[in-house]
Amino acid sequence: MGKQEISTLFSSNPDKYYRVALFDKLGFQRHRCITCGKFFWSILDKSVCPDHERYNFIGNPPTKKRFDYVMAWKEVENHFRTEDHSIIRRYPVACRWREDLYFTIASIVDFQRIIGDKVIFELPSNPLVVPQVCLRFNDIENVGVSGRHYTSFCMIGQTCNADIQGGYWKDRCIDLDFKLLTNVLGINQSEITFVEDVWMGAGAFGYSLEYFVRGLELGNAVFTEFEGDANQYRVMKNKIIDMGAGLERLAWITMGTPTSYDSCFESVIKYMENSIGLEKNKEFLSSYFTLISDKFNYLNGYQSDNVNILKGEIAKEMHLSFEQLEKIVSPYEAIYTIADHSRTLLFAISDGSLPSNVGGGYNLRILLRRILAIIERNKWNIKIDNLIDLHISYLKNMYPELEQYRNEVLEIMKIESDRYINARNRMNSIANNLKKTQKQLTVDDLIKLYESDGITPDFLKELDIISDIPHNFYTKLAELHESAQKQSNNRLFDIDEELPPTRLLFYEDPFLRSFSAKVLKIINNKYVVLDESAFYPRGGGQEPDNGTIDTFPVSDVIKYNNIVMHKVENLSSLIKEGSVVNCMVNSNRRDSITKHHTATHILNSAARNTLGSWVWQNSAFKDVDYGRLDITHHSALTKEQVSDIENIANTIVMKNLDVNIKEYERGESEQKFSFRIYQGGVVPSNNVRIVNISDFDIEACGGTHVSKTGELGLIKILKSERIQDGVIRLEFVAGKHAIDFINKQDHHISLITNTLGSSKERIVESFTRYFDESEKLRTKIKIFMRKTAIILAQYVCSNAKQISNDGVKVYSTFDNELDEDYHILIGEKSIGLDPLLLYISFISKGDGVRVIVFVGEEARKYGYNAGQIAKELSGRLGGSGGGDKRFGQGGGKFKNKINEVLVGENFINNTILGRKNQDGLQ
Ligand SMILES: [Zn+2]
Ligand SMILES: [Zn+2]
Repeated sequence: MGKQEISTLFSSNPDKYYRVALFDKLGFQRHRCITCGKFFWSILDKSVCPDHERYNFIGNPPTKKRFDYVMAWKEVENHFRTEDHSIIRRYPVACRWREDLYFTIASIVDFQRIIGDKVIFELPSNPLVVPQVCLRFNDIENVGVSGRHYTSFCMIGQTCNADIQGGYWKDRCIDLDFKLLTNVLGINQSEITFVEDVWMGAGAFGYSLEYFVRGLELGNAVFTEFEGDANQYRVMKNKIIDMGAGLERLAWITMGTPTSYDSCFESVIKYMENSIGLEKNKEFLSSYFTLISDKFNYLNGYQSDNVNILKGEIAKEMHLSFEQLEKIVSPYEAIYTIADHSRTLLFAISDGSLPSNVGGGYNLRILLRRILAIIERNKWNIKIDNLIDLHISYLKNMYPELEQYRNEVLEIMKIESDRYINARNRMNSIANNLKKTQKQLTVDDLIKLYESDGITPDFLKELDIISDIPHNFYTKLAELHESAQKQSNNRLFDIDEELPPTRLLFYEDPFLRSFSAKVLKIINNKYVVLDESAFYPRGGGQEPDNGTIDTFPVSDVIKYNNIVMHKVENLSSLIKEGSVVNCMVNSNRRDSITKHHTATHILNSAARNTLGSWVWQNSAFKDVDYGRLDITHHSALTKEQVSDIENIANTIVMKNLDVNIKEYERGESEQKFSFRIYQGGVVPSNNVRIVNISDFDIEACGGTHVSKTGELGLIKILKSERIQDGVIRLEFVAGKHAIDFINKQDHHISLITNTLGSSKERIVESFTRYFDESEKLRTKIKIFMRKTAIILAQYVCSNAKQISNDGVKVYSTFDNELDEDYHILIGEKSIGLDPLLLYISFISKGDGVRVIVFVGEEARKYGYNAGQIAKELSGRLGGSGGGDKRFGQGGGKFKNKINEVLVGENFINNTILGRKNQDGLQ
């Protein structure tokens, strides 16, 4: 049974599923749309559902009250607070608590936690309302164009668990929403239509009532009553109400502005209108956007390739040419787009997301590049800093946290803008080539251009390389970048019987190194399952313990579901199921890994303190001899930044802070410590183990840790490297390995001082002097070479051998003393002296050989080609080469063939003459 069957099931029993008390009280009747067959409820006698109604609130709102975005929220907040709802702060737009999502896409996502393949709802209070900012990137091309599409919008989430204290079900839900529309927003009862629908999510489904006013959907109340799938389901123990209403739309319906953007971005739009000197023709825009909204509405999220067809129709209706219409409308589309995109970036960066080429960051980069391309294309004087400041000063009444991250947001926007400008030169040259070839570019071509060279279609449009941005470009691109993190749950083991979860002794006593346990099972003659274990299994980036079970070495430890498996090499028949075994954990190994793990936590917060709030752990790896921490950051680190991070980390070590480990109920820990705890990813259990380094760093983590930071002794960062766009890798050592590293460096310094005949104290001085001297020598040699070149060239010319009747001569040499620079200088001089000369040198280089070829001007006229000769000779030496007619170079790895080439003059002659004949005279 699919969605259609469920829909039929619910529709066939409307009294049970859809009829609410309000409908009877006010005389709502059930109707069926004559166009699409959908069922809906309204007081007025209507024949079509709201999907087939025209937008008729633009310029003519159905209420006397006027509420812009923030005002509308204040009304909503007040209404639900009076009705005993907790009003909670929005959750981050970067969805750190779900592995399958980069961004929060709906208000209900705040309260969903996924355990296994089950969705669990966790509400911090009941009932509640949240103004959740949601990010969606599947309609980017409609943003600014349709009048109502956004990349970020506020979904008012009215959420409740019906079956616990404070909960309610559909009658009260619809009552409250109806009251909001009528009493609070002042909309007449008869204007409101409820449409029957169904909702299906992961592992649960229910029926829903969508409510509309004058063709505009304002909200959707979902009653999640069943769990399971369409074939097999039952009533949930805790039924959930998930009502989501678009705040942008509530504002729009009361304001009746040409677009929804005008009700939400007033100050930002005004700023842009003033900057570019745009005079708003409100009436024209109202009629235009009524028409375009209608077209989008009729077509239900218009999905064709070309929005221009719609515009063409509208131009006709408005008695204008397409070009005339475009001229008026396109600046507005542009500023609406900028307003939307800049607000999305503000939220995303404030919440710690970075624009990049990977993962969700990719969408953010697209948004910023679209803004920059629009501003550049139109040569507008619009400052991104001003846009951000205007957004913040308007939104701070609702989202005070935005002000706190202002500087970080501006910094990231600046870095990203500069990056775009720097990339422009390269993009320009690629674009010019495209222009020359005049190739018809497909969507796939455009995607490739973006992926490999960062070239946006906006940019190509600006250069007239494409006439329009294909409608599905951004959708297709977004699909490509959708989170593909879903890990396949391969069954690695066949465990036929139910084994009890292994008791994890390393949590109970982190210092336990020897213990005895009962063997419950031996799998594949290799993996030993014990009833309890002090062996830490591989997990969370921490490498597993080693040790012995009854003196047999344990080489690996893994966890499968709740069971710890010990891989034992050469498992003897002495270890039997049911027997009791003595186990030893390798203590040195565990201690080193543990220190590297705690150091990871310290470095993570040290990096955030040094670099900025956007720093998150991307991944981490803790091994015996070193640790690795990948953090999110926009640029490669400077030496100073690395040493700052190291200094902060070592200050924490020296302070000898307590490392407290405590379990919390998940919801409690999220509220108490924020989503920052999810540095190492999502914790798939109800209880969260919080590792708190005296409030310096607080993370949810299942690894092993020291109890005081002083135990680390020292943290030393070995290396920092930008491993991908937006991700920096730090490699480090702690404890004994840090000391070893310092000792090794000290030893190297001793070797150098010995060679220099200096002392450690004076090593920098001595080295600088030594280096300066060798630089001077290098310069002297160059001068000497230049001065003697002419004499050497004369020698070359007089020792060249004539190879054919046309007077062409060849000089060839093998050199294992001087380098390429020398031969390039002499070769060049020689063909200058004798234009009939071919200069060929083979230069020994390591295990291989380099080939340099010059051909004089006259010799070139006879068809001798330096590039060809270099290619041929290099080929025979087992390598490759090339060049132009005058100069060629290459090389090969068969040094031993040099003699063959040099001794056998004929070989050269044949090669060169062969070339010549093949190419013919020019
Ligand atoms: Zn309909
Ligand atoms: Zn950890």
